[in-house]
Amino acid sequence: MQYLPDEDAYLCSEGRKLVVSGIRHAKSRTGFVSEKTCYTCKSCKDCPRKANCIHGNHSKQPLDERMKHFEVAKVFQQERQKDLARITSEHGIELRVNRNIQAEGAFADVKADRNYRRFLTKGHVNVEAETILLAMAHNIFKLHCKIQAQRLGVHLIQITVAA
Ligand code: SF4
Repeated sequence: MQYLPDEDAYLCSEGRKLVVSGIRHAKSRTGFVSEKTCYTCKSCKDCPRKANCIHGNHSKQPLDERMKHFEVAKVFQQERQKDLARITSEHGIELRVNRNIQAEGAFADVKADRNYRRFLTKGHVNVEAETILLAMAHNIFKLHCKIQAQRLGVHLIQITVAA
């Protein structure tokens, strides 16, 4: 569907308009209140695409009497656009590549290089203590490597583009 920003409406493939018919608020289990804008087509009557376009087969209302209706979470969509712009920006790509190298690399170092496949202790408290010791050992090792390579203060690995 094509969005018409000036009218805050959508245009369907039949060239008919879906206009705002209401605002719905929903509260999640965590207490977050989301807002959804409801759009309804006022002229779906006699539309040849109706069977494919209008879903919700459990409706008691006959298809002939039903109109196309859908909801859009505008804030969610805006945030998603912003997120997409962030993660596809130059800095976003640099952070994502570093996340792959640094976070996944840490698992590889600990599990493969140090052959640490299982916890040595049992019980929540002991396993937590073991994890903290493991993380401390890994961080000290990383610090040592950085000092040796004179990379102190450099947090991100530069991306090199293949020629
Ligand atoms: S059913 Fe309504 S919204 Fe869907 S294509 Fe037909 S006129 Fe457009």
